[in-house]
Amino acid sequence: MIDLHTHSTASDGTDAPDQVMEAAAAAGLSTVALTDHDTTSGWPAATAAALRLGVALVRGAEISALSSDTATPGRGVSVHLLSYLHDPDHPALLAELTRTRADRETRAQRMVELLAEDFPITWEDVLAQTEPGTTIGRPHLADALVASGRVRDRDEAFATVLRPGTRYYVGHYAPAAVAAVRAVRAAGGVPVFAHPGADARGRIVPDSTIEELAQAGLAGLEVDHRDHTPEMRRHLRGLAEALGLLVTGSSDYHGTGKTNRIGENTTAPDVLEAIEAQGALEVVR
Ligand code: AMP
Ligand code: FE
Ligand code: FE
Ligand code: ZN
Repeated sequence: MIDLHTHSTASDGTDAPDQVMEAAAAAGLSTVALTDHDTTSGWPAATAAALRLGVALVRGAEISALSSDTATPGRGVSVHLLSYLHDPDHPALLAELTRTRADRETRAQRMVELLAEDFPITWEDVLAQTEPGTTIGRPHLADALVASGRVRDRDEAFATVLRPGTRYYVGHYAPAAVAAVRAVRAAGGVPVFAHPGADARGRIVPDSTIEELAQAGLAGLEVDHRDHTPEMRRHLRGLAEALGLLVTGSSDYHGTGKTNRIGENTTAPDVLEAIEAQGALEVVR
């Protein structure tokens, strides 16, 4: 069983990287990818745990990007790009991730200022919910709101105050999706479009954008994901076939931060082989 999308406390998951590996072992997975948002800082701890537990580790990241292909000029659709087995020190990719993480912090501070007008939360409350060096996201703001007693859980915080369109929402810098695909390939990584059809959570890109990304070097589509309906999965499988893209499945596990169970969707062994053949790094095993 192979699960190619999980998060740790290096971003918005609630398990430390070694605990993600332990959860993978407990679920009987043979292989798991650690794909924290815009960072590879969980890789060393996950690697040590992988070797200790005998679970294979695909080192990865989930890169925030924006599509410019949208009906609303100047406002891109959020694109999450999984990168597998890239060189973490490649200067161009590293510069993009560093810039995104820095602006995520500025943006979170701005959102806290806006939230503080109506809720009892401070920036210190948010920092208390994160490890040093974590990629800060709205889930950490949600955790601070939960700690303040004003919302029940992350889900309620997203449903009420953290969504785009509320007066508290602020966007953050992210590279254009085509540029992100090229940067991942330049760094020897294998780019896979994460949950491309998750239309219940926000706007999604049209098929023409996926075609454009395929031309830029996209390797695959994450088809089997809980945010995709059966019809969407059928559609994406057909699109992947037509464009010669790999098809993956994964859990998008976030520990207790989301209800997603590790291993709830999986990827075929031959797809993992193709990813490893294209990547600059080996799978840790
Ligand atoms: P951000 O990275 O700041 O834009 O926040 C988006 C992240 O929040 C996504 O990566 C999801 O993992 C997480 N997220 C979105 N909706 C929810 C929800 N309803 N409950 C928990 N986490 C969520
Ligand atoms: Fe997340
Ligand atoms: Fe995502
Ligand atoms: Zn994710």
